Amino acid sequence: MKLKLIQSDITTIKTDAIVNAANTSLLGGGGVDGAIHRKGGTEILEACRKIRAKQGKCNPGEAVITTAGNLSAKYVIHTVGPVWNQGGKDKEMLLANCYINSLKLAVENDIKTIAFPNISTGIYKFPKELAAKIAIETVKSFQQEQIEEVIFVCFDKENYNRYDKLLRI
Ligand code: ADP
Repeated sequence: MKLKLIQSDITTIKTDAIVNAANTSLLGGGGVDGAIHRKGGTEILEACRKIRAKQGKCNPGEAVITTAGNLSAKYVIHTVGPVWNQGGKDKEMLLANCYINSLKLAVENDIKTIAFPNISTGIYKFPKELAAKIAIETVKSFQQEQIEEVIFVCFDKENYNRYDKLLRI
């Protein structure tokens, strides 16, 4: 499994799957979630509505998969990051679960390339350095032959530099 780092808008990435930092409603929101739904179109929202009707809300740490609508990717994996609030080990575990459950879904759906945004580091205020460490460690320790490439997509230069440093260690 190769790890790659880029600074970009995740809605432009051509991978088998891109991951969305969704909220528990699965019905869209701000940040990367808003961008994905805006550009991906109503097909994604419809698919999310069906999942909602079937299983209810999506809890933090969990992930679901839908079509990618008009995006270049084939699938969107929606995962709900924890809101940092007061922080704590449980929040760290929930963030790790986002990566693990997204990768598990990728394996189940024969996905070979997957792109992650910096989950929880926007509106959900997870400390960026800690979030980057958890993201990298969790993906690295996910042993799976089938996934060929995991791309960390940083929106801003600050997070890009942070990941770049951590990936060299
Ligand atoms: P959360 O609610 O999980 O914190 P946000 O969408 O607010 O989610 O932010 C998560 C991360 O996604 C932030 O680092 C933010 O800069 C980044 N981000 C926002 N828009 C995009 C985008 N179009 N592509 C990639 N990353 C994005």
